[in-house]
Amino acid sequence: MLRRRRPKPLPDDWEDRVARMDPGWWDRSVEVRTRIRDLAEVLLGQARWEAARGFEITDDVRLLVVTQAVRLLVGMEVERFPDVRTVIVHDTTIVGRGERPGPAAGVYADDDVLLAGEAAHGDGPIVLAWDEVAWDVRHPRRGRNVVLHEFAHKLDMQDGVVDGTPLLLDPALGQRWVEVCTRTFHELEREGSPVLDDYGTVDAGEFFAVATEAFFCRPAKLREHHPDLYEVFAAYYRQDPAP
Ligand SMILES: [Zn+2]
Repeated sequence: MLRRRRPKPLPDDWEDRVARMDPGWWDRSVEVRTRIRDLAEVLLGQARWEAARGFEITDDVRLLVVTQAVRLLVGMEVERFPDVRTVIVHDTTIVGRGERPGPAAGVYADDDVLLAGEAAHGDGPIVLAWDEVAWDVRHPRRGRNVVLHEFAHKLDMQDGVVDGTPLLLDPALGQRWVEVCTRTFHELEREGSPVLDDYGTVDAGEFFAVATEAFFCRPAKLREHHPDLYEVFAAYYRQDPAP
């Protein structure tokens, strides 16, 4: 059953608190910051928040996660994420079994894998490691952002399959999207990339999530090295983040 919870207002001092955690915050225009606030209030009300054992979810945790996640939606004509019902936050990397490593901490120990985050299929939970979330936002030039990565998977899943092709309203864009992403995926496999993490070669779904991180964290570099990839992502997200 679809729950349509009401938007939940952010605390009065939300913007100063976010800015203390996100060094890029005040670089955004007042229009963008206002749009982020409106979308963040929807996501805050939409999601149920669960702390893993030993962690406490504070206002700052929720604020940083929602204000990062909705960066994906700022230019789109949507007000909420599809199928996001529960966000589970751990204090640090999560031990998963039989899963693939996250783009960040792909460290194997026997059969266990340390994950920075996960996005379950359907309306399953998004799982995040708080230390990774905070570190990524502090260091945007490293090109990693686990919140953008996991919420991008939710956009990809909207059409029922995790195949790196989200719902694209414009058929012409859809064709171009598949052509450009397939070509760049194979280039990444063959030669690597100065801006796309190798983790993007795992499959088309990971490629989309990794390219999304690059698009938002290192847009100028993505445009320089993969101009047509930048162009289809700008058309999909309806944003042009490169200066
Ligand atoms: Zn992923």
